[in-house]
Amino acid sequence: MSLGAIPPSSETTRPDSVPRLFGTDGIRLVVGREMTPRFVAEVASALAGYLDGRGTVLIARDFRTSSEAMVKILAGTLLMHGVDVRDMGVMPTPCLQFNTQGVAGAMGLTVTASHNPNEFNGIKFTGPQGMEIPREAEEIIERALHYGRYPEAVWEKIGTFRQDPDGVDRYVGSILDHVDVAAIRAWAPTVVLDCGNGTSLMTSPQLLRELGCRVITLNANPDGHFTGRPSEPNEANLADLRKAVVDFGAQLGVAHDGDSDRVAFIDEHGAFVPGEVTLAVFARYRLQQEPGATIVTSVTSSTAVTEVVRDSGGRLAVTKSGSLPVAEGVYEHRGSFAGEENGGYYWPEHQVARDGPMSSAKMLELLARSRRPLSELVAEVPSFHLIKTKVRLAQEALAAREIKPFLVREAGAILEHEAVSLDLRDGVKAVYDDGWLLVRPSGTEPICRVFAESRDRGRAEAILQQGIELVERLLHEWQAEHPETAAATPGA
Ligand code: MG
Repeated sequence: MSLGAIPPSSETTRPDSVPRLFGTDGIRLVVGREMTPRFVAEVASALAGYLDGRGTVLIARDFRTSSEAMVKILAGTLLMHGVDVRDMGVMPTPCLQFNTQGVAGAMGLTVTASHNPNEFNGIKFTGPQGMEIPREAEEIIERALHYGRYPEAVWEKIGTFRQDPDGVDRYVGSILDHVDVAAIRAWAPTVVLDCGNGTSLMTSPQLLRELGCRVITLNANPDGHFTGRPSEPNEANLADLRKAVVDFGAQLGVAHDGDSDRVAFIDEHGAFVPGEVTLAVFARYRLQQEPGATIVTSVTSSTAVTEVVRDSGGRLAVTKSGSLPVAEGVYEHRGSFAGEENGGYYWPEHQVARDGPMSSAKMLELLARSRRPLSELVAEVPSFHLIKTKVRLAQEALAAREIKPFLVREAGAILEHEAVSLDLRDGVKAVYDDGWLLVRPSGTEPICRVFAESRDRGRAEAILQQGIELVERLLHEWQAEHPETAAATPGA
């Protein structure tokens, strides 16, 4: 890929002066405040520079109120810089990732803020392999934006535009090619699907129907205001789905986040299945099919996953948290399945990307073949209490920069005295005899995540509390040492 728009090297010797725009999953900002029409066009110009004014970009979107407008700005700007554009319409992020891999050398953009609140929107960047683009590519785009260095647009060289209406069918077809359709059809379960007004409504009613399920949908109307439920598919937000599973006598409840790269399951009794438990159930299933295979996960994963993989005779590879590090881990370790506790699971035979609809089909295959209810499979997973919370960082502007390395450095210095071992792969993970604590500043939001786990719920809660107090104390120290910046307004 050409690097035509890189600013002169003299400007790159001060990398700290270039604001970081990309989080762990693209750019997410508040519409009208930072995500302005001009900014969206400049992002497209910067991307055109990265692409040296050629190639093809596939663009998809979610139902957010601002998404269609953003697609049009991105598409028009790329075209004027000579880049060809395929408008894929509304589809899940994994559907766009799948389609991007089908066009040689193409890149993909999804206009979505995933599960963030309504006022946000974002742009996710997919590289030719179907994974998020690497950090080096993000830095090239950030530098172009910071210095306002964009390629020229000339009338003789305008890109071509076309709409591609077949992306969903190609993607659903690949899922059907990679699951045991006959077993699921023979079982013919009732499934309640909660799309949360997100993009899974474009793929999943059709997918589940073709798998022979009786499909009952919740929040399957397009609505950029997310009126049905908040977009994050956590236990608190899925009360309606839990009730519906019981009321309809369904064998499974399925819920997706806004852009459908993640999934959450409800068992046949209406109980929410935590993401780390689903991860363990999937890992064991994969190891039954492929003995000795490698399972890839991140530092946020439960010890339950470690134990299940060990007891099932598999190998475990642990990466940093986030969709790109885990995807890279799949390639590096030749992983045959991967996932994180947040409900993102990877099935490399289909594609190396978090894929909510594919995971729902795999769960149905697993249940159909085992002929056992989900609650029984969940009960066999070693019982750990993994709890998490977030501490809001005081300054949005600072959150992305100095505060985060400070938190990691200082928390590590304190925790190393009391922990059995420290894992510094991503944030600080302090491992104790009876549990662990992970302090990890977010890459996408001005928050610091705190995870704690133990077999004993009380102990897990105590570890979590200790982590919260540690982060709050460090934030207090930081503010005391930086009174000038502490007074800055958020977002400045
Ligand atoms: Mg998502």
